Amino acid sequence: MYKQYVSVTEAVEIILANVPPLEVEFVSLQQAINRVLAEPVIADCPVPSFEKSPLDGYAVRFDDVRQASIDAPIKLKVIEEIPAGHVPVKQLCAGEAARIMTGAMLPKGADTIIKFEETHLRIDSNQHFIDDNQQIEIFACPKSAGNYAKIGEDMNSGDLIVAVGRLIDAATVAVLATFGYRQVKVYKQPRVIVFASGDELVDAGEKPSIGKIRNSNEPSITAQLQLWGAKATAGGIVPDNKDMVAKELLSALEHNQVVITTGGVSVGDYDIMKEVYQEIGAEILFWRVAMRPGTPMVVAKWKDKIIFGLSGNPSASYISCELFVRAFILRLQGNSDVWRPFVKATLTTDIGKIVDQDRFLRAVSSIDKCGKLVVASLPKQKSGVLANLVDANALIYVPAKSSHINTGDMVDIILLKPPGVHIYG
Ligand code: AMP
Ligand code: MG
Repeated sequence: MYKQYVSVTEAVEIILANVPPLEVEFVSLQQAINRVLAEPVIADCPVPSFEKSPLDGYAVRFDDVRQASIDAPIKLKVIEEIPAGHVPVKQLCAGEAARIMTGAMLPKGADTIIKFEETHLRIDSNQHFIDDNQQIEIFACPKSAGNYAKIGEDMNSGDLIVAVGRLIDAATVAVLATFGYRQVKVYKQPRVIVFASGDELVDAGEKPSIGKIRNSNEPSITAQLQLWGAKATAGGIVPDNKDMVAKELLSALEHNQVVITTGGVSVGDYDIMKEVYQEIGAEILFWRVAMRPGTPMVVAKWKDKIIFGLSGNPSASYISCELFVRAFILRLQGNSDVWRPFVKATLTTDIGKIVDQDRFLRAVSSIDKCGKLVVASLPKQKSGVLANLVDANALIYVPAKSSHINTGDMVDIILLKPPGVHIYG
């Protein structure tokens, strides 16, 4: 017999314990954004790989310029100009400088860079040098030699720069490009199909006749899955009919690693989902989670594929997706970071009813003008209510049977989006 009324933590543990083996593929650097790295990025050369100038200015010998000041400038001869990408050909001797651009290689003999702003060209009104052996004046000098970019100061050969399991962002792409990756090994995006079940449902494009409603769950879950990197397909609406649902599920399982259904998982006369899962040979991992909204939920395993049966209530299905499906989908892509930030915030509203199950209240979090994270629960917390999900950027976690929670109390919240920021007026 399967488990019932599992806790939220237990549900997540069971789900993550059933992540099938991950698959990998190579993609081009251009396609790598938002994919998860399946190979470590290890520096195969030092960066920088040569000593280079961080400034536009003059490469000099510290010993020549250490006494330079506005009142007593040091005069030097310019022996070479070194643009970025060019190799210096001369070695600096006493009394000499090389004009050097940002990113260019330091000439031999140089150990200090003086920026243009601290130098002066000694030319006359006809733009000719006043003295060919003393073409520039240096007005200032750093405290010590060595104000150039050293070999390996950014990354050293053999350094682990990005670990396996990291989501590839623009900064990771920059690192990959630096080390010459044209292809990068990433985890495959899981194929997931989403069905909505219920005789009352019509497609979003249709006008519902009396007693019917538009299907909002399948489009919203498909959208959530896309945000989390899955290849999501909208499977459409299936009726409350066991044979028809079974047929759809079996064909969906052939082509997808994950199947999600909404509706039909409670105890109503037409709540057929759990029986259908069993009839097609799936093993039920658990049924019902001790939480609100979203108590009705069933998770099953069919070969190495997973089926999530979520509640039909729109906010219940959305929140269950956030708490359970998201972690599974991210881990299935090898992502090492599957958790939303779980942080403490000060409550700015009272929380009335306390129940014997964990609750996740739709809420708005923000940083107040003192820089403190605050959170307000939204009105209308019924699982059938959809509209306030649009404003919710956080879920307040109210543990089962906690005593009354009031304005000013500290609560745990899950950040679904970054908190709003108080704009100073
Ligand atoms: P159920 O989980 O099938 O008992 O459905 C619970 C509630 O959610 C009922 O009021 C359904 O009409 C509604 N519902 C079920 N599926 C959807 C859906 N795909 N989109 C919007 N509402 C739904
Ligand atoms: Mg139903």
